Amino acid sequence: MLIQNDMSVEPKTKTLCGRLFNLLRPPPKMTITEWAEKNRIVSSEETSSPGPWYSERVPYTVGIMDAISDIKTEKVIVVTGAQMAKTNCAIMNPIGFYMTYDPCPIMVVQPTIAMGHTFSGKRLTPMLRDTSCLRGKVAMEKSRSTENKILEKSFPGGYIVIAGANSAPSLKSRPVRVVLFDEVDEAPQDLAGQGDPVELAVARTYAYPNRKVVLASTPTLKGKSRIESAYNDSSKERWSHKCPHCGEWSQYSWQRLVFDVMKMSCPYCETLHTRIEWEKNGGKWIAENPDHEVRGFHVNALDSQGSWDKLVTKWIEANKYSKAGDHSKLIAFVNTVLAETWEERGEVIESHALEKRREVYQAQIPDGVCVLTMGVDVQDNRLAIEVVGWGLDFESWGIEYIEIFGDPRKGDVWIRLDEYLAKSWAYGNGKRIQIRRAAVDTGGHMTPQVYAYCKARQSRGVYPIKGMGGDKVPLTRPSVKNKEKGLFMVGVDGIKSDIMTWLKNEIPGSEGYCHFPKDEDNIPINGYSADYFDMLTSEKKLLVRNKKGYPEYQWHLSAGKRNEGLDCRVYARAALRIMLPNDNASLRNMHYSEPWASASVARGSNQSAVTPTTAKSKRAKKNQLGRNNGLSL
Ligand SMILES: [Zn+2]
Repeated sequence: MLIQNDMSVEPKTKTLCGRLFNLLRPPPKMTITEWAEKNRIVSSEETSSPGPWYSERVPYTVGIMDAISDIKTEKVIVVTGAQMAKTNCAIMNPIGFYMTYDPCPIMVVQPTIAMGHTFSGKRLTPMLRDTSCLRGKVAMEKSRSTENKILEKSFPGGYIVIAGANSAPSLKSRPVRVVLFDEVDEAPQDLAGQGDPVELAVARTYAYPNRKVVLASTPTLKGKSRIESAYNDSSKERWSHKCPHCGEWSQYSWQRLVFDVMKMSCPYCETLHTRIEWEKNGGKWIAENPDHEVRGFHVNALDSQGSWDKLVTKWIEANKYSKAGDHSKLIAFVNTVLAETWEERGEVIESHALEKRREVYQAQIPDGVCVLTMGVDVQDNRLAIEVVGWGLDFESWGIEYIEIFGDPRKGDVWIRLDEYLAKSWAYGNGKRIQIRRAAVDTGGHMTPQVYAYCKARQSRGVYPIKGMGGDKVPLTRPSVKNKEKGLFMVGVDGIKSDIMTWLKNEIPGSEGYCHFPKDEDNIPINGYSADYFDMLTSEKKLLVRNKKGYPEYQWHLSAGKRNEGLDCRVYARAALRIMLPNDNASLRNMHYSEPWASASVARGSNQSAVTPTTAKSKRAKKNQLGRNNGLSL
């Protein structure tokens, strides 16, 4: 189209021509660093010291920004501690540079859509407002322009779309040339059947031969950290300083910081120097794989503007908590100060070790058992059941694990459960006891059936329960919402932790030791087969990031495993707690009153041969362990 009379040209056509012009213009020779030093104003929403961008305040950012603007580099990995200008050098300044000199479609990916909104409001909009060369490029929100929404900002020659790593649709929007991924370690590993969010976002760039992908993050958990695996497959550049004594370059390391003199030792000559001495010669990036096409950068908070003293105070504090069992502060320190992943020392219980510990019980119910409880897991085609005998300090005896097959929607399985509840078991001297409390899971697809069953048997001690995840949930508490149904909420994570601790105990007679039976020919009995132990150990406690990004323990079922054995044990434990809110004190009282001592032979029951009482020998053992306080001998 020939434009003959300027007056006749529609404003829209003008904009279009302007865009085409920008698209055809060759990229400038300028770098992101140069753009930032010339133009960037850091807004008051972003920092406590707003004003022009000075690279010398954060000298490590220069190499990172130069790598992003290098046309030969397609992918850049940025690993830093928190509050280290990571987002500015890896996301904000590149956006400003591309908007000004090399307009193109850009995607910024935040871990969640909600964080995308925050990013838009607290970072992007202020930058567009305060940095004069960007001002006016994006029609401001007040103008009611349809082009300008919170998660999408159009500017001449391109646009910025803000996506959430938790939302597949937002990642699939349309082709982009530049993808800037912030806090990539907080992105989900997989979006329900839609795949890896990072791959989804990167796939948007495939149409562009001059594409750019930047992944930035503070690292999280070893083995799960994307930024760590991406960094390991890169040039692996570390921000380093020159030793004033031997002249070798090295990265600051927490292990080499000597707290009382606040000096860092040199890994080559071992001399100690203050931070000022180390930084006399500035710093530079030292690459482990200098020829790698992916540029990867790592800098920790020993290079941040904060003082080393403050970091040491934080470290001591975090260790105090860690010693008391709360590792969250220490993990945060490792992630956000050292910019390293946290390695969880896995706690694995070998099912074979538990299988080997099976023993021949002296009677159906060994002396030491004070009370029997039952846990029932309701599956679609069966009930899984365990009866557990509890003794002093939660020492426990697996009595029987069985499955009643049948559809729990129909009556039959429940009739058979009634028959099972009516059973009694014998101590060595012939005294028989029954199940005192039973907890039946309502969590499956049979909630109404479970409620109906339990309601009619509350006087028999049968309670419906519902598991709740989370560290701070009480082991058991009556439900407020379903009080009339007798429902108890069960803190399954806490109970699982206790059970795992108990399973690890290898000293019979001490707290939480778990006994399992076999017969005299070494054959598993009462359901305690190899399969059972596989189920009992099927879950692992793993450290993961919760929705807010904080580390948290969660239980995970190993792939392809069943876990009813563990669930039944958890519910049997919950049943004990429901019966005895002050459970261990009650168990102690019961233990010293020796429930197995007086024989009361149940009439008409077809008892197994009564073995001589072992109460004395048991008690003698307890005494050796210093647990018997003399009340019962
Ligand atoms: Zn040295």
